[in-house]
Amino acid sequence: MKNTKIDTSTLKYHWGNIIGITVIHILALAAIPFFTWKAFLVCMILFFVISPIGVTLTYHRLLSHRAFKVPQWFEYFLATFGALSGQGPVLMWVAEHRLHHRFSDTKNDPHSARHGGFWWSHVTHLFYHKEFEDNKKLWSRYVPDLTIHKYYHFLSKYNFVVALSIVPFLYWMGGMPFVMWGVFMRIALMLHVTWFVNSATHRWGYRNFDTKDDSSNVWWVAILAAGEGWHNNHHAQSNCAAHGRMWWEFDLTWQLIKGLEFVGLATDVKYPGPVRQVKECELDNAVEVVADQFGNQFKEEMRA
Ligand SMILES: [Zn+2]
Ligand SMILES: [Zn+2]
Repeated sequence: MKNTKIDTSTLKYHWGNIIGITVIHILALAAIPFFTWKAFLVCMILFFVISPIGVTLTYHRLLSHRAFKVPQWFEYFLATFGALSGQGPVLMWVAEHRLHHRFSDTKNDPHSARHGGFWWSHVTHLFYHKEFEDNKKLWSRYVPDLTIHKYYHFLSKYNFVVALSIVPFLYWMGGMPFVMWGVFMRIALMLHVTWFVNSATHRWGYRNFDTKDDSSNVWWVAILAAGEGWHNNHHAQSNCAAHGRMWWEFDLTWQLIKGLEFVGLATDVKYPGPVRQVKECELDNAVEVVADQFGNQFKEEMRA
């Protein structure tokens, strides 16, 4: 494995992220004494609804990779649902993920384990300021298809307000146990599941495709993250709406997308091509898709 170790002594701490992540973990631990089976059930239901639909289907396959299209009103609705995940501004989420695909496991990958091991890729990279994040001109180049929508700026600015918007409803339904488990425990669990896609699936598991990065397929991440664990397949053909490619690689999100296509809400679904060895991706497919929309100038900038 090529080492691109980062000297953290040269980086500035990102206190906003450090405090936010610490607080959400303290609140998740504080939820334990509030345990009831009903509260646990609410946590699981919200987890297995918000995570596949909000994060996996919307933030990842729809907004980051444009693996299918939906009507604009429905895209806004889904993105709002995604903000319930509490995973930060949608514009940054998508920009950082496209950057990850473009520079996967090289120097400019925002969260490669090659920079600092498993924990770096899982969470500790978030504890430091990244030049990419701090430079709006730089990151907005990666999301021209989203920055043209005022709504995504609004959603990015008030993402935590949206994430906490279900608190009054949950309190009304079941008091503090529902709030602590349905919001804070659930957000903490969902963060770790998303982070496992950055850490575990660039470290363990098997590979169907000979990609240039360290991406791999990990079955338990695929179960927890609704198909995202088939990450090597995804890196091989990143704008494909299906991540599971072998018969045993169950991909819940792919089934949801096919369901949306069946009822006419999803169109232009990128179906998988034949499974074959992919030696090289000159330019990431996600970038190609956006380039189709925004022309060659964007494409040239991406190559620079
Ligand atoms: Zn990856
Ligand atoms: Zn991706």
